[in-house]
Order: sequence, then C-alpha cells, then structure tokens
Amino acid sequence: MSGRHFVLPFYHIVFPSTRPHIRYLYRYFTPEEFNKQIDYFLKHWQPISYEELIKLHQNGNLNKSKVFHLTFDDGLYECYDVIAPILYKKGVPATFFVHSQALENPAFCFYRFKISLLIWHARKNGLSQKVKILLKKRYDIQLQSIKHLLKTVDHKNIHVIDFLWKETSFDYDKYLSDRPIYMSMNEINKLMENGFQIGSHSLNHIRFNTLSFEDQWREFEEDKLKIETLLGLKNIPFAFPFGDQGVKISFFNKVKKHYPETLLFGSGLFSSDHADNIVHRVPMENFHMQPEKSIPALYFHHSVKKLLGRETIYRK
Ligand SMILES: [Zn+2]
Repeated sequence: MSGRHFVLPFYHIVFPSTRPHIRYLYRYFTPEEFNKQIDYFLKHWQPISYEELIKLHQNGNLNKSKVFHLTFDDGLYECYDVIAPILYKKGVPATFFVHSQALENPAFCFYRFKISLLIWHARKNGLSQKVKILLKKRYDIQLQSIKHLLKTVDHKNIHVIDFLWKETSFDYDKYLSDRPIYMSMNEINKLMENGFQIGSHSLNHIRFNTLSFEDQWREFEEDKLKIETLLGLKNIPFAFPFGDQGVKISFFNKVKKHYPETLLFGSGLFSSDHADNIVHRVPMENFHMQPEKSIPALYFHHSVKKLLGRETIYRK
C-alpha cells in the first residue's frame, strides 16, 4: 500500500434527520450509516485509544501500525446521545474536540450555525424576501439568494445575523429548548467517565490561516487552558478549526516548546507533515460516501502523491 497504514477518520455529527443549525453547512450520516462505517473500520484496522495513539506517535511506530482512532469536532450534543452510545457498545475509543465557550455558556452559538439557522427560519416562514430588503436597507448588502448569506457573512460581521434574528423574531431560546446544540459540562464529564478523550478546538472557531500569530496562539492556548481547568485534565490534544492549511512552522514550534505533550490534529488526509507534533485526519463528511469507497480512493491518491514525492506537507 502507500506506506502509511493508520487512519484517523473524523466527523462532527451523526443524526437521523435534519439539524437546522447544520443543514446549510455540510451533509452528515445517519446512525445506520455510521454503524456500518464503524464496522468497516473495525474489519480492516484495530481501534486504539488516544493514549495508545500518542504513544505510537512518540515512539515513531504510528506509520507502520494498522490502527484507527476516531475523532469528532465541535462538541455537538449528538456526540453524547447518538455517537458515544454506538461507540461504547462496539468498544471503540474516540476523542471529542470541544469549545470552552460552549462549556461556559449554554447559549453559545458558532457563527456559521447562526447563519444556517437564519436561512432555515427565513425559508420555513416565507421571510426570505423580508431578509433581502432588511439587508439592503440596513447594510446596503444585495443578496441574490438567502443561501448567499453563507458567503457574505463571517465572524467579522456576524452582527448582521444577530440583527436579522431580531428583525425576523427568530426564537433561539425556543430552538435550544427543543434540543441543545452543544454538550454540557455534565455530558462531557460522562463521556470522560466512559473512557473517551476530550480535546480543544479553539476559542472562536476561526480559520487559523486568516489570523495573526498572536491571535492563533490566543485561540489555541486560552481555549486549551480553560478546558483543562474546567474538566481537570492535562495535555489535551487540539484540532485546528477548518483544518491546518497555511499554519506556519513557528506555531508548531511554539506549541512544542510550551506544550511538548500536546498532539495537534489536522485534516490533511493521509499526508505526513514537516511539523512532527501534528497528525492528519480524513474528514469523512467531506466525501459523502461510504468509507469502503472513499478510503481506498484516498489511499490510492496518497500513493500517487508519494510516488511524486508530494506526500509531506511542508511549512514555511
Ligand atoms: Zn470545527
């Protein structure tokens, strides 16, 4: 095969029906599909815990081990009530990357979720035209389609969505009372009691390559230390929000210097990395197909890259 035998699949959510805060962002799998996927991984790889993963990484044996470790980003409620029970039953370990803000504030909402919720609310209630008029009037933003809000708004101008929520009477408290978005402290503690690993995922979930070095460090360190304090943990791993693309070697070196036991998680599929404190994962939801199709195709792609000498991510 391609020389690399381990696989680190990653997901966000598993749910049988629509979750409006995610609906316009990405597709995800149902519990039935997810169950089958775990069986596929179990058939071809040996499941390992985070402790085993970091040990293999540190002693240089990870590449030759035919193992898998599952990870889940964003700390969504479904990790607790859908995913963890499936994994627990099958005896499959996993790491869940959470946000400190969601632990501290039950009303926290990631800015992309806010946009998805607004689109859902506007469409469901016939308010799309009203949203367009409001945007033009208040912010001079011309919107072709309501879905274009995802391209027009980001963390820097998310107040636009707060304004639209208010003007269209979107009841966020009611939405949360039907079903939470994030896991609470209590639920995360239960995952830990069942042997699952917790990691951090940055303060505000902003693409790292758009931030200054100082802001990258603050997003990483503050979130990590808060979660460690809140949950009584040490040396938790970290997953880059939106992936690790374009993050410079100086960041990895600083992590290594201050937190030598912290392993970073990227999303470079089967790539190796110039930085030695990061491992790369396969974002399963990006390839919305069953892994018996996507994984061999990605492995093949990786083998070709290796032949061309391009399997390692180099960092400036
Ligand atoms: Zn994320």
